[in-house]
Amino acid sequence: MGQDSLWFMFDGALLLLREDDAGKRVLPRGEVPPLATNYLVQRVGEYRGVPCMAMALSASPLCKKAPGSGLAGAAAYTGLDLHYRAYELLGEELYSLATRARELAYWDVNSQFCPACGNRNLPDSAISKKCPACGKELFPPVSVAILVVVSRKNSLAPGGDEILLGRAHRAAGIFHSLLAGFLEAGETLEACVRREVLEETSLVVNNIRYFGSQPWPHPSNLMAGFFADYVSGEIKIQESELLSADFFRRDGLPPDLPHEFSLSRRLINWWVSGEALPYGNNNC
Ligand SMILES: [Zn+2]
Repeated sequence: MGQDSLWFMFDGALLLLREDDAGKRVLPRGEVPPLATNYLVQRVGEYRGVPCMAMALSASPLCKKAPGSGLAGAAAYTGLDLHYRAYELLGEELYSLATRARELAYWDVNSQFCPACGNRNLPDSAISKKCPACGKELFPPVSVAILVVVSRKNSLAPGGDEILLGRAHRAAGIFHSLLAGFLEAGETLEACVRREVLEETSLVVNNIRYFGSQPWPHPSNLMAGFFADYVSGEIKIQESELLSADFFRRDGLPPDLPHEFSLSRRLINWWVSGEALPYGNNNC
């Protein structure tokens, strides 16, 4: 008898779950893929000794209202977007595996053909493909984005400083969060922090310190979190990016902050706690 695996199957961006006997939404488990696919079955890792496998079923959701309904045998499943509800449902360990699974499934769908010569790619190693015609190797790409706590001295505020929060145009809803932006080609992370803050708010910052990172599978990003100090300037928002931006005191934070599992909220919480940074203070 073979070994059971947990199956992370994606209909577009949606992770398919089934209901167990108690009506709880769970990952399907079994020796073989629960549904048929033309895409790769990729090993993601292990969960409590059980192998975890990722596979795409389709390039984009076949039916947004009833995910998976266009797939043979998929009626028993419901789709789950990998946002905070998925984190609450799956828990930290399975959510982390689901993140990796989503990125690998997305990469497989989007690397079927060689970008240099157009031939069909073949799997090469466990984490790469290769074009048999021109030899080009492909690995899952990751786009890096920065998040930054900009703090400004204010001797009257609790803790002696205040934090810059903005409301961005977001598909997921409008709420107060940290400034964020994508790393450009050839740019350092520190230069990216300076540029994004300057572009979005016209403020100058320095003393940029690394905090931590978080994979963000929408579809294949890595968020890198930083702290920085305000130096100069008056807030003038970039209207194509932000609806508003302002400095807030610890005792006057807006209620609509990012979900607890997000790196941006961890950064905000760390600032609120007033603790020293976990990785030292690498001034740059
Ligand atoms: Zn090629």
